[in-house]
Amino acid sequence: MRAVIFEEHGGPGVLKLAEVRAPEIKSNEVLVEVRACALNHLDVWARNGLPGIRIPMPHILGNDVAGVVREAGELITWVNRGDEVLLQPGVSCGHCEHCLAGRDNFCEEYDIIGYGRDGGYAELVAVPGANVIPKPLNLSWEEAAAVPLVTLTAWHMLVTRAAIQPGESVLVHAAGSGVGSVAIQIAKLFGARVIATASSDAKLSKARELGADETINYSSDDWPKQVKRLTDGKGVDVVFEHTGAATWPGSLVSLKKGGRLVTCGATSGYDARTDLRQVFYRQLSILGSFMGSKAELLAAMKFVESGQIRPVVDRTLPLTEARRAHELMEDRAQFGKLVLMP
Ligand code: ZN
Repeated sequence: MRAVIFEEHGGPGVLKLAEVRAPEIKSNEVLVEVRACALNHLDVWARNGLPGIRIPMPHILGNDVAGVVREAGELITWVNRGDEVLLQPGVSCGHCEHCLAGRDNFCEEYDIIGYGRDGGYAELVAVPGANVIPKPLNLSWEEAAAVPLVTLTAWHMLVTRAAIQPGESVLVHAAGSGVGSVAIQIAKLFGARVIATASSDAKLSKARELGADETINYSSDDWPKQVKRLTDGKGVDVVFEHTGAATWPGSLVSLKKGGRLVTCGATSGYDARTDLRQVFYRQLSILGSFMGSKAELLAAMKFVESGQIRPVVDRTLPLTEARRAHELMEDRAQFGKLVLMP
């Protein structure tokens, strides 16, 4: 089969199109013909290489897959050849205390399709049968591929970790990112007031189309002041953080007394400065978040099917242009997801 692989860590230039052996499935796995595969920042981390994390080489990236079932292992009774599906990105052992408690993203063996195992930058991908979800009828292939990872991440952050309540105010950073575009919609779904930030007026306009009540261009230095101004000087109840070092100090300042900051990432750097006086004196909560459970994605899928959460696709590119897609993502030029089509 054709796949985009890399054999050493580095910039977008290490990605290359290759003819590789098609994956073989085990009895508990499903072989899926990839119709669309969305990019995530995790792809860039895996491609660059992270200290202490071993990525098997040669490696095929791609966490977010939509496609058609070609073959199901003998233990898989709930999936048939020809089914149109999308894939849960998280893979876990299925028998530890965390998995059995429905907290599979706490599993010691937790992995993500396209991270520690081969993913969807290919014509075929093999995944555990537990990872297969029916593709909603109202979505195109590229929209379906844009759903899983960012929807799961934003749901776990806002609903499970921050426990957002109707009437609360939520500051969502980088509205143009995949996770930001979904976070706006989930926060609105739960009756919150959303203040969204982005780096250009064009992105802010799209954020309002997604439901943001207020928008702030965070290329201006005083964006925390603007958050205060929009909240009668009090600050927001919840900050949705995923940008890290560049926004972190301002995010803490933007919270009201007793506010919660929930973070899933650090695309601008992880070595962020925390003024502890802000944390103890104003009794802030800092909540870490990583992926989410399979059940949480199923809960969110109901709202994807009803159209209340809609995936935002910036553009599709052929699989052969994976390198260009990575360059686009690193330039942060897009609003929503970049999707590869094999
Ligand atoms: Zn487990």
